[in-house]
Formats: sequence, C-alpha cells, structure tokens
Amino acid sequence: MWFSCPTFGAKSLPMGYGTSHESSYGYCLECGDIIEYGHGRPDRKFCSAGCKNRWHNRQRARSWKAYQHKVLKVLEDNHDILERLRRIGISSIDRISLGQLGFDFNYVTSYHKIGQRSVYSVFDITYEATPSRILHITSRWCGPEEGTGEGEGVSSKKRAKQPSSAVSADL
Ligand SMILES: [Zn+2]
Repeated sequence: MWFSCPTFGAKSLPMGYGTSHESSYGYCLECGDIIEYGHGRPDRKFCSAGCKNRWHNRQRARSWKAYQHKVLKVLEDNHDILERLRRIGISSIDRISLGQLGFDFNYVTSYHKIGQRSVYSVFDITYEATPSRILHITSRWCGPEEGTGEGEGVSSKKRAKQPSSAVSADL
C-alpha cells in the first residue's frame, strides 16, 4: 500500500519522501519512524516534538563543538608561531611579518592594559603590542620542559635540541 503510483508521484518531494493514494509520508529525521502526513503539513520532518528537540539539541552541540575546535586550533597555531620565534631567540617582530607567518591577532587568551602597555597572552606566552610591532615575547610556562632557571644545575642535556642562545635568552 506504500508503493507510489506514477500519477500521484512525488515529483518535487525530497528523497526519502513519497506518496500513496491517500496520503504522503516521510521518515522522522531523529528516530526514522514513518510519518504519515495525511492531510497535514507535507513538510514535517519529525514524528514528535521530542524527536524534534533531540535532533536540534544535537545539531547545536555539534556546531558548538566545531566552533570550539576552530578557536582552539587558531590559538594553538598562534602559540606555536610565538613559541618558535621565542626558541630561536626572537622576542620582537613587526606585525606584518608576524601576520605573514600566519599569526591571527584576533585570537589571544588574555589582554591587560598595564599603564601605557598593552600586554597579551596566548596561553603561557605573553607579549606587548604596539601599533607596529610586538615585543617582549616571553613564556610563563615553568613546567618540566623549561626548568625553573634557578641554580646552576639547569640540565643542558634536557635542552640538547635547542640552540644555546635560546636557552640563555630564557633565563
Ligand atoms: Zn521520531
């Protein structure tokens, strides 16, 4: 009884929708149940308000996750760019060059106005910004990778892969 008859065929209905002699039907986007339209709206996508809510909630959660991922990716990229500069001993760079490296100035994790200075952070890395340059690129990270810098025993073996100039610039 669900076979569609050519003369009543659903010429403009989207895939997954069809017609019978008496009524058209489709499938709930959430649970897949058949929706019989009868004389009701032929564009219903859900069998119930519950299914409609569940579907929309999941779409919202998905697009929020996607947005979060995008922002985190840009922040990570920004951090990597600053970290690479810092590790080769560069603590100041003009904005145009930094932009050419892929840095996105719209994404930072904090901003403070300290007197006349504008101080930004991307996670552990801070820098000051002027209209033309950023300067004093430094890291606040003092985890195992960087050591505390105290005493004379900072292991150079741990830092074997870094140029020694970058090491002394940190301290
Ligand atoms: Zn449903």
